[in-house]
Amino acid sequence: MNYKTLALILLALIQAYKLTLLAVKRKSFSNPIPDNVKDIYDEEEFQKWRMYSAEKSHWELWQTLTSFVITFLLILTDAFSAFSKLFGTNIYWCSLGVTLLTVITDTVTGCVFGYVDSMIVEQKYGFNKTTKATFIADQVKGLVISLILSLGLTALLATFHLWLGKLMPVVFAAALFLFILFITFLYPFFSRIFNKFTPLEDGELKDKLTGLLEKNGYRVRAIQVMDASRRSSKSNAYFTGFGKTKTIVLFDTLVDSSTPDEICAVFAHEMGHGIHKDTLKNQALSLLNVCLIALCAYLTVSCAELYKPFGFDSVNYGFAMVLVGEIELAIISPLLGLFSAWHSRRAEFRADRQAVVEGYGKDLISALKTLARENFSHLAPSPLIVKLEYSHPPLSERIKAIEEGMKQN
Ligand SMILES: [Zn+2]
Repeated sequence: MNYKTLALILLALIQAYKLTLLAVKRKSFSNPIPDNVKDIYDEEEFQKWRMYSAEKSHWELWQTLTSFVITFLLILTDAFSAFSKLFGTNIYWCSLGVTLLTVITDTVTGCVFGYVDSMIVEQKYGFNKTTKATFIADQVKGLVISLILSLGLTALLATFHLWLGKLMPVVFAAALFLFILFITFLYPFFSRIFNKFTPLEDGELKDKLTGLLEKNGYRVRAIQVMDASRRSSKSNAYFTGFGKTKTIVLFDTLVDSSTPDEICAVFAHEMGHGIHKDTLKNQALSLLNVCLIALCAYLTVSCAELYKPFGFDSVNYGFAMVLVGEIELAIISPLLGLFSAWHSRRAEFRADRQAVVEGYGKDLISALKTLARENFSHLAPSPLIVKLEYSHPPLSERIKAIEEGMKQN
């Protein structure tokens, strides 16, 4: 069997796996709701949630099918190599050409389905606050970032492989990891491209939150409020940065829709992530991830024979990224995801425990219930999907654990 046939078969198998997961998800929309979360939706809201989820998964199905068909056809018809030939014979330009083609096709499908998702589905259920102008601006900014990153990565891969030979995977892994650290470090800066952040106003709430930090001897650079309401009515909070840039970000939607004690509860949870160094642990996981990517990339660019059946004369670094991303990582990532999702759910339970210790157990439950209601969460997801993909435990399990914790306190 030649490499092209193998690639097409693997692509089809990966697609079959994705469709199976989607079917499992769709089936779970009629799972019975656990007793401790029955009060989140009334009958009417529950029916609305089911329609919303069915519609979301319907479009998700079309999106994965479209992406699959495009990639499949591009590979089948040797379109990648034909496109790369437009850029002459220089190995760098030919590689960048292929990457350009993937960025263009990804952007087009991303734009179309992103538009359907926010401007049609989310709009219909009243979540969307994005105006057409914001949507277009987001897409343009996203395209620029994606062009810089993808073309940069392809050029890096080519340079390292051509110059370093066998040392390439190690240096490439190190460079990728440094890059991820750099992005994490700069995340607060990047997010400013998309949102406005303002320091939390002085007052009772800020005093309470600062009190919580001081009591635990924990320092953050800032407590920021993000204008999430510009895009969506969904609310949240997160912890970001490390070292001197540690920041706790509260969505303005959370601040506006919760009681001060509920905000303290969510804040204590985020502080819990900080105290347990969860960002740092995630970095360790992403180091493992980049080592795997670097190894895959090295093996893929080291075999010049691999490229001939796809119409290339020699190695093409842009096409190598397609093979690594669409096939190799698509096979490896679910396995790694299983572990990282499990790890992340554990961290969530631990962060909830922090809020319980601070005496905000009850408020955390009511805050989580409000968040679940506002975010239209799935209250009875399939255990299989939770294991494979959920970075947060289902709400009913969290509430159970919080209540246990409150008894022990
Ligand atoms: Zn959390």
